Amino acid sequence: MSDPSQLILSASQVRQIEREAAAAYPQECCGAILGKERIDGGRKRRIVQRLEALKNSFSPDERYRRFSLDPLELMQLEKRASHGGLSVLGFYHSHPDHPSRPSEYDRQHAWGFYSYVIVAVAGGEAAELTSWRLDEKTGTFEQEDVLQERIMP
Ligand SMILES: [Zn+2]
Repeated sequence: MSDPSQLILSASQVRQIEREAAAAYPQECCGAILGKERIDGGRKRRIVQRLEALKNSFSPDERYRRFSLDPLELMQLEKRASHGGLSVLGFYHSHPDHPSRPSEYDRQHAWGFYSYVIVAVAGGEAAELTSWRLDEKTGTFEQEDVLQERIMP
């Protein structure tokens, strides 16, 4: 990737995504990832500060809206984020009974800037969590490094 980045999630953010994914099972959950981007030692770090669950709609044509938010919705999301000094870093969604790898559908609806976090849900329990970014030159997803803060006892 031309500008590799690292996505940093707290333990409670990971738990929140896992909870939403398990609750939505066997449907997919989805939401927006808000935070700040910082260059640290020449490396781009995306520090997640807030997750915003997006209403999951189960009707077939509504499902298409997940990654193709219309410009007005995206603008409103960006505006809410910027009120808190944040920006929209990406989106998360779950893959019920599928691996946490982007589907062809995901690829076709992705934009280069955003991080796409995917959590696999196996039999109702959250499993592997990964993050992906689209390389706009090649049109392929590359896995993004995810740093999960440790859960403190
Ligand atoms: Zn997907």
